[in-house]
Amino acid sequence: MSASLVGETIGVLGLARSGLAAAKLALARGARVYASDMGDNPQTRRAAEQINAMGGLAETGRHDLGKLARCNRIVLSPGIPPTAAVLRAPEIAHVPVIPEIEFAFGLLECPVIAITGTNGKTTVTSLIGHLLHEHGQDAAVGGNIGTALSELVMREPQPRVAVVETSSFQLGGIREFNPRIGVLTNLAPDHLDWYSSVDAYYADKAHLFRNATGESRWVLNGEDPKARDLPGSAPGTRYYFRVASQPAAGELGGFLSPDGWLTLRLEAGREERIVTAGELRILGQHNIANALAASIAARLAGASPEAIARGLRSFEAPPHRLQPIAETDGVLWINDSKATNIASTQVAVRGMTRPTVLLLGGRHKGEPYTELLPELEMGKVKRILAFGEAGPVIEHDLAGKFASVERVDGDFDDVVRRAREVARPGDAVLLSPACSSFDMFVNYEERGKRFAELVTGRAAPEPALEAA
Ligand code: ADP
Repeated sequence: MSASLVGETIGVLGLARSGLAAAKLALARGARVYASDMGDNPQTRRAAEQINAMGGLAETGRHDLGKLARCNRIVLSPGIPPTAAVLRAPEIAHVPVIPEIEFAFGLLECPVIAITGTNGKTTVTSLIGHLLHEHGQDAAVGGNIGTALSELVMREPQPRVAVVETSSFQLGGIREFNPRIGVLTNLAPDHLDWYSSVDAYYADKAHLFRNATGESRWVLNGEDPKARDLPGSAPGTRYYFRVASQPAAGELGGFLSPDGWLTLRLEAGREERIVTAGELRILGQHNIANALAASIAARLAGASPEAIARGLRSFEAPPHRLQPIAETDGVLWINDSKATNIASTQVAVRGMTRPTVLLLGGRHKGEPYTELLPELEMGKVKRILAFGEAGPVIEHDLAGKFASVERVDGDFDDVVRRAREVARPGDAVLLSPACSSFDMFVNYEERGKRFAELVTGRAAPEPALEAA
């Protein structure tokens, strides 16, 4: 029997994918719905029309605080940052505001595997889904990627397990969200444009463990002290993954053996060798860590070692994550547009095997670019092309510390044109910007797509999109 919301009035803030799904779910369960989005554009208007057609009330371009004040609960879509003005309005101070994953979780009938961390969430989430599918399990993948959790709840029948990517913003507001298995990939500074401090960002991530029980299983990065310590004294079994070190005798988890095997030890004294690192199609040390994290979670959720091995051998990098686009005139062009913080650009640079022209820039998010110096000193980057709003900051931060920084004024097409001029046969051009895309594009996908178009010459040039 599906739980009913008859008699409740649900407010929904934000009319993108997750907000629309939450509104539909609330209506399907018998609630009255008021939904709004400050953004008035074709997408939000279409969403509002759908909600109105289903008997809800939705509007764009404003939030009606009077209507929100009369709601029993307000569901917050992931696109709305915790700093949004509407959340501080005194009129709605008495109404509980819950993230979309919390709302959907309350109506979900299957266990959840939740994935969070600064980098690698999407890779690990989709890989867990892939491994469980390989085993023939009815696993649904969603949350921050692809399908909103509210949509998974509306699936008939509901999936057997939900694999859910969760952002720090969403975790920050949870009350009852309680994954059976939780994965924390790593922790590094990010979103300093929204959070007052790194600690405030980590504190939101720590909510993953808020409702832990003795049955909880935690998959943690054994080589990242901050990630290892984040659960504190939360109950549950801990499994650690490590790539550059071997586990202590009693430690459970997964590791790379000295002879190159991804190896699981989920019970004391019992080791399972899955595949060798060379069999993975995803590249770089960080992806071995991602593969181990996903394998532990999938094995804990019931997948066989054989299915996991098959899945690891066939899984390819999701788009915009260290994705080779083309080799033209001896130059390899790599799209890592999803690298929107320093930590992800660091792993990308470490993974380079050719002399590299690094395209760095976009909208600055607050971290100093000097953090890249250890990677730059490895000698792989022969030139940085600094672009976008962050261009002057990059130039300023690296002045006198890294010689080959060149500012490219102009639009993104100019940046790629300049890269073509400076790259020599045998080089790589790496778009791994360490910044968000919002100064030139609606999102990182559009930035990556434009990069691929310019490199392959396959789509007609079009003007850069307006900032969101
Ligand atoms: P998220 O969903 O957390 O943003 P993605 O899987 O989309 O993570 O990857 C985002 C960026 O981080 C990409 O540039 C990718 O190459 C890089 N990345 C992926 N996994 C890791 C990891 N384990 N550690 C550091 N960087 C990573």
